[in-house]
Order: sequence, then C-alpha cells, then structure tokens
Amino acid sequence: MTSMLTTVAGCKFCDIVKNKKTLHLKEKDKCVVINDIKPKAKHHFLVLSKQHIAKPTDLTAADVPLLEEMERTGRELLREQLKKAGEADTVEDMLRIGFHLPPLLSVHHLHMHVIYPTSDMGLISRKLTFRPGKVFKPVRELVEQLKANAGVPDPLQGNPAKDDCHDGIPAHAIA
Ligand SMILES: [Zn+2]
Ligand SMILES: [Zn+2]
Repeated sequence: MTSMLTTVAGCKFCDIVKNKKTLHLKEKDKCVVINDIKPKAKHHFLVLSKQHIAKPTDLTAADVPLLEEMERTGRELLREQLKKAGEADTVEDMLRIGFHLPPLLSVHHLHMHVIYPTSDMGLISRKLTFRPGKVFKPVRELVEQLKANAGVPDPLQGNPAKDDCHDGIPAHAIA
C-alpha cells in the first residue's frame, strides 16, 4: 500500500506518514492520526492524508471518500480518548473539526484538525485562527461543497425538513 504513495521531499507530514510510525495514534487505509504539537484543547489531533495533497482547495469530489475516512477516524479516536478518560461522549457543539485554508495554512500537506472541547480554546484560537469561515473550513462544509461543485444532486432538495439539519455554521462562507 505505502509503495504507491508519492513522498514529497522536505514535506514534514510525508516524513511522518512514511517514517515516524511511533507518532501514529491511528492508521487507516488513506490516513494517519497524530497529536498536534501545539494543542489548543485537551484533545487536539491532526488527521493526515497518506497521499501528499497540498491543500484543501486542491480537493475534488473524487476525494470525498478520503475526507469521510479522515472524519470518521478522527471522531473514532476522540471517542476512544474520551472513554478512556471517563468523560462523557462527544458533545457536537464542543467539537471543531476541519481544515485551515490559505493563507493560514502552515504545512502544505492535507491535515484535518480535531479539537475538543472548544471551551478549552483560547480566545484567539476560537474566534480567529480556528473560527469556521474564511480561514477554517469545517469538514462537513467542505464535503458538501465538493459534492455541489461536482453536480451531485442534493437528496434533501425541496424537503422542508432540510433546514433542521443545519448546525448553525454559515454555509458557503468561502467561495
Ligand atoms: Zn506531504
Ligand atoms: Zn492547520
């Protein structure tokens, strides 16, 4: 499997994916999870794509299964950590899960932040650098956007119950 991966020289996340297995908290077909070196909350990890993809804006609808695996894996690890710590199960409102967008992107290798609980975060993280919108894209929004761009029909279109599913994050804050 790993033999099919292209490694970009000098990319620190490619190096972690390929060579630093001791840092992997979890490994799946398409992604690995590591701790963020500057945690903004008690639980803060990064889900890295195994494949070198520079940034979320390079993704297409073909990458939706990758994003879904990344989200599933991040949530799974969080649930395991909460359980181990004897804490209550994930409270959705306290979870921030998504991607930095340029120019706030520090490492140009696809990485999804999973941060929990948001009440641990400092004001700057919560209101600025990890605020859903122009600089930080929640994974669900990214998936919906990629599907919409590819013209995949929305199964809930025309359904009056649709608005009930929204979680209050402004949709399409990013072009
Ligand atoms: Zn890379
Ligand atoms: Zn980031």
